[in-house]
Amino acid sequence: MSSPVLDEAARIAQQFDYPAAEVQRGVAEYIREMEEGLAKEGTTLSQIPTFVTEVPNGTEKGLYLAVDLGGTNFRVCSIDLHGDNTFSLTQSKIMIPRELMAAGTSKDLFLFLARQIEAFLRIHHNDHFEAHLLRCREGSKREELFDLGFTFSFPVRQLGINKGTLIRWTKGFDIPDAVGQDVCALLQDAINDLDLPVRVAALVNDTVGTLMARSYTSPDEHGTLLGAIFGTGTNGAYVEKLDKIKKMDSFDTYDDYDKSTGEMVINAEWGSFDNHLSVLPNTKYDQELDADSNNPGVQMFEKRVSGMFLGEILRRALLDMHRNESVNLFKPSETSDVEVPENSGIYKQWGIDTSFLSIVEKDKSAGREQTKTALSDHLRIQRPSDTDCQAVQILVHAIGKRAARLSAVPLGAILISTGKLKKDELVDIGVDGSLVEFYPYFEGYIRDTLKELPEIGAEGEKKVRIGISKDGSGVGAALIALVAAKEDAAKEKVL
Ligand code: ADP
Ligand code: MG
Repeated sequence: MSSPVLDEAARIAQQFDYPAAEVQRGVAEYIREMEEGLAKEGTTLSQIPTFVTEVPNGTEKGLYLAVDLGGTNFRVCSIDLHGDNTFSLTQSKIMIPRELMAAGTSKDLFLFLARQIEAFLRIHHNDHFEAHLLRCREGSKREELFDLGFTFSFPVRQLGINKGTLIRWTKGFDIPDAVGQDVCALLQDAINDLDLPVRVAALVNDTVGTLMARSYTSPDEHGTLLGAIFGTGTNGAYVEKLDKIKKMDSFDTYDDYDKSTGEMVINAEWGSFDNHLSVLPNTKYDQELDADSNNPGVQMFEKRVSGMFLGEILRRALLDMHRNESVNLFKPSETSDVEVPENSGIYKQWGIDTSFLSIVEKDKSAGREQTKTALSDHLRIQRPSDTDCQAVQILVHAIGKRAARLSAVPLGAILISTGKLKKDELVDIGVDGSLVEFYPYFEGYIRDTLKELPEIGAEGEKKVRIGISKDGSGVGAALIALVAAKEDAAKEKVL
C-alpha cells in the first residue's frame, strides 16, 4: 500500500543504497590509501606500525598484567593464559578522581595508577608479589618481573613496542605536562617509585588487542589476519608484510624491532578513510551531521559506520520527514492521534541511540509492537500510526545496511591486498563492538558484500571466518606484553 509517508521513506532510503559498483570503487580507493599510508607519514589512513611482529596461536602460556586507561575508569587485570585457547582473568575497576583527570600533573595521575596496580597485586597475587619483591630488592632480573600491557586509548605517536608519546588528551582529560611525553615511561617511573615488580612491556591499541585476543582464542592454531571494531567508533588492525611498510625504512625515530617473522601488525585508523570524500556516499544527512559535529571533515568513514553516529543519521532523516508538510510523519490525522512532545529526542542532536536501530530492525511482528515501544521509550513518541512505524523501519533498514556494506570495504580491501585468500584455506577475522554484535544480520550484510567483490567472490567468502573477539584490552593486551617480552628476550640473547 502506497502513501506519501511510505513513498518519501522509500525515496530517502534509496539515497542510502550502496551498490556493488560503489563498493568496488571504495575498495580500490582503500587499497590506494593503504599503500600510501605504508609509504609515508601524514596520510589519510595513518597505517600506524605497532611493533607487534607476531600474532598468537593459542598455545601461549603464563601470567600477565594489563591495565586500561581510556575513560572514566582505570582497569587493572591479570590474565592467566592456559595455552589451550583459554584464559582466566581477574580484574578490578577504579574510577579516576576528577581532579586527577585535569588540573593535576602527570606525576599525580601516574602515581595514582601505579598505586592501583600495587593494591591489585597485593589482593590477587600477594605470594607472587612478595616473592618478586624480595628478589627485586636483591637485584632484579628481567624475567622476574610481571610483564604488563598498557592499553592507552588516547592519540599517541607510537615509536616502539613500549614507547609512545602523547599527541593530545581527549575525553575530558587535560594534563598539559604529559603532552609530548612517553606514556610508558611515565607509568614505568611511577611503578619504580613504588618498587613494584612490574615492567611496562607494551603500549597497546584496543584494535590490536582485539586482533591478538581473537588469534589466541580462535578454535585452531590458525593466526588471525584482522581485528576490527564496530562499536562507538570503528577501526581495524591487520598483519602486514614488513617489506611493504616502506615508511619504516625512511625514519630513524623508530625503535629497533625484531624482523625475523617478516610481519608486523598495522593499526589502520580507518575511521578517517577517505576524509576527502572521493568515494564515500554522502547524503544530505551525512553532510549535516558532519557540519554540526565538533570535528567537521574528519573521521568521515566512522561517521557513516559506527554506533556513535547511526542514530543521529536516522534522527536527521526522520526529522526531515516529520517537518515535511506534504508527508506528515508522526502527524495527527483522522486515523491517528500520534503525539510527539517537545522534549522528544527527535528534536535533539544525538537524541537517538544506535541501539534503537537494532530494536526496530529486529521487529518482524505484524503489529510492529517493538517499534512502537522503542519509539515511546527512546523518543517519547506516543501512538504512532502503523504507517509511521513502517516508515521508521524502512529508514532504519537503509541506514544499518549501508553501514554494514561500508564495513565490508576495509575488510575486503585488506583481504585482497594481503593476498591471504589466495594463499590460505581459511582466513580468520576477529570483530568486537555492539554494532556487529547486536545489529541484526550486520555480519550477513558484510558477507553478502564481500561476495560481490570479483577478487573475492562466493568461493573466497566461504574461506572467511568471522568471530567475536572480546576483551582486547585485557587478554589482548596481555598477549602483546607476552610477544614484547619474547622479542626482548631474543634481543638480549643477541647482545
Ligand atoms: P565501545 O565501542 O565504546 O567499547 P560498544 O562496543 O558497546 O562500546 O559500542 C557502543 C556503541 O554501540 C554506542 O554508540 C551505542 O550507541 C551502540 N550500541 C549499543 N547497543 C547497541 C545495540 N544493541 N545495537 C546497535 N548499537 C548499539
Ligand atoms: Mg569496546
